[in-house]
Amino acid sequence: MKLTNIKEITGIIRLRSGLHIGAGKDSVEIGGMDQPIIKDPVTQAPYIPGSSLKGKMRSLLETSVFMKNEGTRRAVMDGRPCDCGKKGCPACTIFGSHAAPQKCDDDLGPTRLLMRDATLTPECMALFQSGRLPMEVKNENIINRLKGVAEHPRPLERVPAGTCFTLNIAFRVYEGDSEDLLDWVLKGLKLIQLDAIGGGGSRGNGQVVFEDLKIDGKPVSLDGITAF
Ligand SMILES: [Zn+2]
Repeated sequence: MKLTNIKEITGIIRLRSGLHIGAGKDSVEIGGMDQPIIKDPVTQAPYIPGSSLKGKMRSLLETSVFMKNEGTRRAVMDGRPCDCGKKGCPACTIFGSHAAPQKCDDDLGPTRLLMRDATLTPECMALFQSGRLPMEVKNENIINRLKGVAEHPRPLERVPAGTCFTLNIAFRVYEGDSEDLLDWVLKGLKLIQLDAIGGGGSRGNGQVVFEDLKIDGKPVSLDGITAF
């Protein structure tokens, strides 16, 4: 397959509420918080892993507009990502098929979307490095149904609202690719904006807005894009 172009989608991810993307149990320090956020091991700065954004976008698209594809619908019903490996499947084409390579159509080609890790914008990084962007701790409780009081507070570390990260997506275009493949990515961004990223989205965490979006340096807006 001939690679004919690589488009670049850039922009700012601004947090509208605190963001919690968990670091996983392995990296918890002794005596540290039991629900820490993921941080760059060198700078200790928070970041949004590309895999988190990509996974969220894929899941939102697969459970909504991609459901009209039979293979995707079946995978969603089984609670897994699409692995049909068919050429006409936007999920497998854009995000890659989870199927074994021999199951995939020969002309499906490589994964089109490369989602980079989103690091703090230069302004936010400067604030962070000078100690003026502290992470916040939110206590999430369970209300005891009989006593009506909060119990078992679990401290949750969050990146505070207002923090900005850089969005950077590379989108590979292969000969014969349909023009609207890239439109799905914009729809995916719109869906993320309506939903949330990271943990605890149903409890108010991880609301984001994409600002200053550009494709190859040309401004684009999510305003006119319908999510469904
Ligand atoms: Zn598929």
